[in-house]
Amino acid sequence: MNGQPDANNVLRSTQIVIEQALRKLGYGDEMIALLQEPIRMLTVRIPVRMDDGTTKVFTGYRAQHNDAVGPTKGGVRFHPDVNEDEVKALSIWMSLKCGIADLPYGGGKGGVICDPRKMSFRELERLSRGYVRAISQIVGPTKDIPAPDVMTNSQIMAWMLDEYSRIREFDSPGFITGKPIVLGGSHGRETATARGVAVMIEEALRTKGIPLQEARVVIQGFGNAGSYLAKFMNDAGAKVIGISDVNGALYNKEGLDIDYLLDRRDSFGSVTNLFENTITNEELLELECDVLVPAAIENQITSVNAPKLKAKIVVEAANGPTTLEATRILTDRGILLVPDVLASAGGVIVSYFEWVQNNQGYYWSEEEVDTKLKKMLLRGFQQVYEVHQTRGVDMRLAAYMVGVRKMAEAVRFRGWV
Ligand code: NAD
Repeated sequence: MNGQPDANNVLRSTQIVIEQALRKLGYGDEMIALLQEPIRMLTVRIPVRMDDGTTKVFTGYRAQHNDAVGPTKGGVRFHPDVNEDEVKALSIWMSLKCGIADLPYGGGKGGVICDPRKMSFRELERLSRGYVRAISQIVGPTKDIPAPDVMTNSQIMAWMLDEYSRIREFDSPGFITGKPIVLGGSHGRETATARGVAVMIEEALRTKGIPLQEARVVIQGFGNAGSYLAKFMNDAGAKVIGISDVNGALYNKEGLDIDYLLDRRDSFGSVTNLFENTITNEELLELECDVLVPAAIENQITSVNAPKLKAKIVVEAANGPTTLEATRILTDRGILLVPDVLASAGGVIVSYFEWVQNNQGYYWSEEEVDTKLKKMLLRGFQQVYEVHQTRGVDMRLAAYMVGVRKMAEAVRFRGWV
């Protein structure tokens, strides 16, 4: 793969692999030009009355990658580092996840530059409502359906739903997913991403011939994705020997007490500050283990640390944690990489289930959700692994090929390209 200087830019590296995937599938320059960028990108300014009486103006985005397959779908991120390129890349990744899971959606994504850790509950409510007012013309249950992402949650989805329903003057639960159960949320949505990553880990271990009960797992990030995953792995009998958050990492080669850590973590996924003798995130990534799961932020596995990783399998719960150069190094070293667009598709799959339940007004049990989720993910894994083997491409490129195929066909049928 390409080690260009800007290849660590998440949008650029996504565009590089999209181009490779489309060329492998036999498409030309026009399709690449269309699918390398979102079809629609809205930038909004959101004035918010703060608790001290002043008004602060926030910047937000909503990207819609492509709606040839169906409405676009994807989360809204509240974070100080949100930027246009990141939101665009995230919308393309959502398209790929929907394609791999065969959902009737294209990808979308939103973000607001803000720091929820420094805002009050009421300020967050006003920002959430202001964001929906700002993007209301381009979203809706049959246009573009938001959901939670980093530092947004079911409460924020509830405010957004309420604001949208007021604007449209009818209750519209299918406008947004990741809602509280009482407002039409789905059982299993909160844990869906982690549940999906756990399924991927089991499949990857099976492929490598490692029994789950003997597996040593290291997880970077102890938020929504990482902490539930630690719990599922622990409950399944694997040994979680390392976890981390933004402040540092914990390691115990005999296995960590995950239930205790879950009990003590705060709502932003921080727990290591309660301990002495922590190690760094850099050290955590290089621990001897069977499965390494980056579940925090982007660009964590790079050309610098990829040669030193001691994991046999890397399963990407986070979006974009591995650079393209690092992907090449891991592949060359025989480390099985389950890429983000496959591994973390559980969230959007159960969001789809939530939207289906809202549309039909008939709700499913958690067991039903989990069974359907597992089936879809296993099919996705098998398809990607087969392309990886038969076409001789790395797992990331294989996932992009499977993920973009349906969208490119839909574009072609519609006569756009
Ligand atoms: P979160 O905000 O709940 O948790 C993030 C965790 O990462 C926290 O423990 C935080 O302390 C840690 N962290 C933050 N910065 C870090 C750093 N510099 N070094 C080490 N750790 C750091 O977020 P989340 O919802 O768990 O999402 C984590 C990743 O998974 C993101 O890339 C997100 O896009 C991806 N993802 C999440 C979902 C979902 O449903 N939650 C779905 C798909 C993908």
